[in-house]
Amino acid sequence: AAAGTASGAEANGEKPADTDEKAPSPEEVSFLRKVLRERLVQNKNEVEIMQKDPNSPLYSVKSFEELNLPPDLLMGVYHMGFNAPSKIQETALPMLLADDKTNMIAQSQSGTGKTAAFVLTMLSRIDTKKPYPQALCLAPTMEQNLGRSCQMLLFSATYDDPVMAFAQVVVPDPVIIRLRREEESLDNIKQYYVSCENREAKFRALSNIYGVVSIGQCMIFCHTRKTAAWLAEKMKGDGHAVALLTGELMVEQRVAVINRFRDGKEKVLITTNLCARGIDIEQVTLVVNFDIPVDQYGQPDCENYLHRIGRTGRFGKNGLAINMVDGPRSMSQLSKIQDHFGKKIAKLDTEDAEAIE
Ligand code: ADP
Repeated sequence: AAAGTASGAEANGEKPADTDEKAPSPEEVSFLRKVLRERLVQNKNEVEIMQKDPNSPLYSVKSFEELNLPPDLLMGVYHMGFNAPSKIQETALPMLLADDKTNMIAQSQSGTGKTAAFVLTMLSRIDTKKPYPQALCLAPTMEQNLGRSCQMLLFSATYDDPVMAFAQVVVPDPVIIRLRREEESLDNIKQYYVSCENREAKFRALSNIYGVVSIGQCMIFCHTRKTAAWLAEKMKGDGHAVALLTGELMVEQRVAVINRFRDGKEKVLITTNLCARGIDIEQVTLVVNFDIPVDQYGQPDCENYLHRIGRTGRFGKNGLAINMVDGPRSMSQLSKIQDHFGKKIAKLDTEDAEAIE
């Protein structure tokens, strides 16, 4: 009937693509085949073997008895009506059931008896006296979707659109709950800017701020790794304990740097855009934009600004943000950020100790 409909549509001058129908996905096709099939698919081809050790002898079996299966499994096999191993089974099972627990990657068309091959292996390894899971079998979600008696739960930190769409296909009639991230806001954060001539002057301004304000912990954002490394050296030279977090670090190294900073081993964390998101360190009271955040086109990056600054005012605390400006370009970038949020960014004179306090 389906074919008739399609050709009918074409006869009317409509292309099949005009219909609402979608081609089934490969998973759907595989699943449908499985549901529709009743018997073993016979295949007369030889099984090709790419073996890790070409010297080790291979043998195949022509009967289930030769496999030395535990008696209850052998009975189960006959109970299923399997008289002799299928092509893939006769080659795979001797290796799979051997004591050395061979790993295997097997490929064979649908319906040729793969499932029985790995299930027999799993069952043969299980000790039913041990009351815990001993084998894990991952199956395509579609094939698990066995009526309403199965309760399906999906938990994840993120669902991008295709994943959410897919989830709603495979999980019937779900309740969807989402907890949105706590909104970052600039409400309880005092924002300032300092006007400087150049990088050296920015560093001096920063030193002056440190000279007068008692600062808990501070995160300093630079535009490039190079500036970040340079600033880290300068601050160390001034006697500060400084942590440097930039993109060339391996994941474990990043974790170590962040943990040290969180534990208060260093009071200053200098970083690039890399860690603007996701790190919530409660005790950070000051964020310094050593460079104004810009996107790849040099436009002010308001979202990133909010992420950087927003972290100081978390959990109801008051935060302080200081932006370093070094010329008309960065000044205009900062003005745009100010306009975007409609929150005043006041000028700070770092030579004037009282003004800072
Ligand atoms: P695959 O996992 O390769 O898609 P299945 O394991 O689903 O294939 O096997 C296809 C069908 O053949 C199933 O109905 C299964 O019960 C049956 N079957 C598997 N092994 C044998 C065998 N040795 N003899 C007879 N039938 C078998």
